[in-house]
Amino acid sequence: KIRTRIAPSPTGFLHLGTARTALYSWAFARHHGGEFVLRIEDTDVARSTQDSVEQIIAAMNWLGLSYDEGPIYQMQRLDRYTAVIEQLIADGKAYRCYATPEELTEMREAQKARGEKTLYDRRWRPEPGKTLPTPPEGVKPVVRFANPVDGDVTWNDLVKGPITINNREIDDLIIARTDGVPTYNFAVVVDDWDMRISHVFRGDEHVNNTPWQINIFNALGAPLPCFGHLPIILGDDGLKLSKRRGAVSVMDYAANGYLPEAMLNYLARLGWSHGDDELFSAEQMVSWFDGTHLSKSPAQWDPAKLDWVNGHYVKHLDEARIAELAVAQLAAKGIAATVPEVQPKVSLFKDRCPTVVALADWLAMYFAPVSPSAEDLATHVTEAVRPALAALADRLAVLTDWNKAAIQQALKETLATSGLKMPQLAVPVRVIVCGRAQTPSLDAVLEQFDQKKVLDRLQSR
Ligand code: GLU
Repeated sequence: KIRTRIAPSPTGFLHLGTARTALYSWAFARHHGGEFVLRIEDTDVARSTQDSVEQIIAAMNWLGLSYDEGPIYQMQRLDRYTAVIEQLIADGKAYRCYATPEELTEMREAQKARGEKTLYDRRWRPEPGKTLPTPPEGVKPVVRFANPVDGDVTWNDLVKGPITINNREIDDLIIARTDGVPTYNFAVVVDDWDMRISHVFRGDEHVNNTPWQINIFNALGAPLPCFGHLPIILGDDGLKLSKRRGAVSVMDYAANGYLPEAMLNYLARLGWSHGDDELFSAEQMVSWFDGTHLSKSPAQWDPAKLDWVNGHYVKHLDEARIAELAVAQLAAKGIAATVPEVQPKVSLFKDRCPTVVALADWLAMYFAPVSPSAEDLATHVTEAVRPALAALADRLAVLTDWNKAAIQQALKETLATSGLKMPQLAVPVRVIVCGRAQTPSLDAVLEQFDQKKVLDRLQSR
C-alpha cells in the first residue's frame, strides 16, 4: 500500500518548502489510493511548540491537504525508540560512546591537522580483539549506530536518480543523545518503518542523511521506502527562500489575499510539471501526480507568476466565495460590508485583481469615504468642468431608476449640453466618487453605488 508522510518540526509556521513537500506527498498518496500521515518531529523540545503544530495544521487545512493519520508526536513515542535502541545494542549494531565533547574536538583537530576528513574514530565501538576503555565515572554516554565500515549505500532517488555513497565516507552516527532522546536520523527511520511509509518525499537538505537512514533500516531488517529529494526553492534574488527575504509562511499568503486553489496550483508547479499545463485543480493534480516529471534543478519563487495564477482563480472561482473573502479583507481594513452587498460588485473588478486584497482595495470605495489625491483633484477637477459636474449631479439626482442605462443617459446628456468629451467628464467623476482616475466602465461602477452617496460625493467638491 502506498503510504506517504509529511514530518514537520513544529518550530514555526508551515514553510513554503514544507508545504510543497506536503503537497507532493499528499498528491502521490491520493493518486495511488494510498494514505498520507502527518507526523510531528518534536524531539527538539526547546524549540517545539503546540502553537506551531496548530499553525501547521491550519495551513494544511487551508490548502486542503487532508491526512489519514496523525498528528503523531515523536515525543510520545520515546519508549518505542528506547526499546529499538536497546535491541540494536543487544545485537551489536549500536553501542554506547563515552567520548566527551572535549575529546571529540581534540580528535577532529588532529584529523584536520593530518588533512583527513573529520569522522568519529569509533574509539568506543566494540570490535573483535579490541579492548575498550573503561567507561569514565559520571559521563553519560550517547548511543552510536555501528555503521557498516565498507561497501556502498545505493538508492534510486525518485528525483535525482541513482545515488551511491561509500560507507567509508560516513561515520557512526549518534542515534540517542545523553538524555536518551533519539536524534532525527534514528527516530525518522523507526517512524517510517512503524508507520509503513512506502515513499519519502523531502527537501534536498536531507539527501546526506539518507545513507545513514538506509543503513539503519537495513540493521533493523525493515523494508526500505523509496526516497525522493526535492530541490530547494530559490527566492527571486536567486538565494534560498528565507524568512529574512519576504514571506515564507503559507498563511501569510492566505492573509495577503491569495487563494488556496492558487497556492496549491503554484506550489505544484515548483518542481513538477504535467506537459504545458499551468492552471489545474487539486483533482487534476492528483490524477496526474505519479512521482514522475519531478524537476532536478532548483525551483525559482516567482511572485509575478503566483499573482498571475492567483488572478486566474480570483476571476474564475465562484463569486459568492470571492465575495466572502473580500468581506474578510475589508473587515481587516476596518471596513464593514456584507456578502450580499459585495457580491454584485465582484464581477466589475475581478479581472484586474491579482489578489483578494487588491479586490478589497477596489471595493473599499463603496463602503468607506474616499480621499482623492490632491494631484488628481488639481489635474482633473478643473474650474472648466465644474459646471458640467453640477449639471450631471442634477440629472443624476432626479433619476428614479438607478441603473446603468439611466446613468449612461445622464452622462450623455451632460456631454451634449457641455460640449465636453467623455473622458473630460468621466475622469473627474471617477476622481471624486471613486477616489481614483481610472476605473472600469463608469456607468457600471456608479450603478453599484447608492444614488445618494454618488450625489453627496459630487456635491462635496
Ligand atoms: N523534520 C524534518 C524536516 O522538517 C523531516 C525530514 C523528513 O521528512 O525526513 O525537515
